[in-house]
Amino acid sequence: MYWEKEIETMARPALRDLQLERLGETIAQAKKSTYYSKLFQEKQLDKLTVQSLEDLKKFPFTTKDDLRSHYPFGFAAIPLQQCVRLHSSSGTTGNPTVVLHSQADLDAWANQVARCMYMVGLRSTDVFQNTSGYGMFTGGLGFQYGAERLGALTIPAAAGNTKRQMKFILDFDVTCIHAIPSYAVRLAEGFYESGLDPKKDTKLTTLMIGAEPHSEEQRKRIESLLGVKAYNCFGMSEMNGPGVAFECPEQNGLHIWEDYVIAEIVNPVTLEPVADGEIGELVLTTLQREAMPLIRYRTRDLTRFIPGTCSCGRTHRKIDRFKGRSDDMIILKGVNIFPIQIEKILMQFKELGNNYLITLETVGANDDMLIEVELSDLFTDDYSVLQRLTKQITHQLKDEILLTPKVKLVEKNSLPQGEGKAVRVKDLRNNT
Ligand code: AMP
Ligand code: ZN
Repeated sequence: MYWEKEIETMARPALRDLQLERLGETIAQAKKSTYYSKLFQEKQLDKLTVQSLEDLKKFPFTTKDDLRSHYPFGFAAIPLQQCVRLHSSSGTTGNPTVVLHSQADLDAWANQVARCMYMVGLRSTDVFQNTSGYGMFTGGLGFQYGAERLGALTIPAAAGNTKRQMKFILDFDVTCIHAIPSYAVRLAEGFYESGLDPKKDTKLTTLMIGAEPHSEEQRKRIESLLGVKAYNCFGMSEMNGPGVAFECPEQNGLHIWEDYVIAEIVNPVTLEPVADGEIGELVLTTLQREAMPLIRYRTRDLTRFIPGTCSCGRTHRKIDRFKGRSDDMIILKGVNIFPIQIEKILMQFKELGNNYLITLETVGANDDMLIEVELSDLFTDDYSVLQRLTKQITHQLKDEILLTPKVKLVEKNSLPQGEGKAVRVKDLRNNT
């Protein structure tokens, strides 16, 4: 059973007590690593510093740069011989980050993912196919072990090869898949291109989508294309991987599992907590990590706590769909824009397909935004109709992002598509 009722519906005061107890343990554990032992000594911090959860604020933030500059094992809190897995994510520059796991860490992570899957209705009778890569990307092994823990029949199909994915889904009566949103769309299109309707011709009921920002409009599209309920899942390698926060059947925000992490939301500039319900950067402290505890880790992901309680009965707080990462924000002509704002508008037009690309370029003395978006295959090639549509889209985008982009409607399948997370923005501006 992965409905952990006692923990999932624990009264808030008891949950906070549990957090405080685990925070003390985490700090004592973190102190065994080279990085934190030096830091705690310098700042005179230790587990006695935390008499209440508020005291966590006395600890400095940990950043991705800290992980990089203590590559590879500066954060290890147990001897390497006791670690059983290493995940590494490469940045574009400098050292990659390394995350170490003990067997107990991997067990806790599998339980966490199994809990999420159970929450959205998966049972041991389900057939689960995972379309994530099984290498360093934690969406592969993370979901694999979670689904096995739940007892489902698992199909580790891994990334790509849409024809084979479709064959497995059809032949093995797959009921649930995990996919990144851009791949879920590809898969749906694959079925339609082969003359199949996934709503009727498959047994699919549930989709887990995450790993990249997507809009509510995109979710709705995917749900109606595949005939499934799609649940947003959030995770990151530094916090194990998938399962950190997950949507419940209400599909209105993601419960963040507060027995595994302490979540704070801070203003990314002042680093002070934001007012309840306001958007800011998510900061996470692990509570059950043995090999590599992290204290106040700055995720760079922007979200907010959703005030109030959830009708599903779970007491762990909910966070909102992610607005993006602070480093994804486009600044154009002094205006701040998130790609997801653009997606939200594009997805409202049924004449448009699912793929788009935002290019920032310098034209003469000005920086401009070009938005190329694929047409849906059902749509016309009548020039005047397309021109009218382009105008309407441009107008709505201007209302949303407060400047006027150049919009270009392009043929279906003409924009580049990779296997991994979708690339939505190309910045070709001079001096950036
Ligand atoms: P990685 O550690 O490479 O798996 O990447 C983790 C990052 O993916 C997070 O920090 C987020 O920026 C992004 N991410 C993961 N899940 C979601 C989600 N459900 N919605 C939006 N972004 C996500
Ligand atoms: Zn709920």
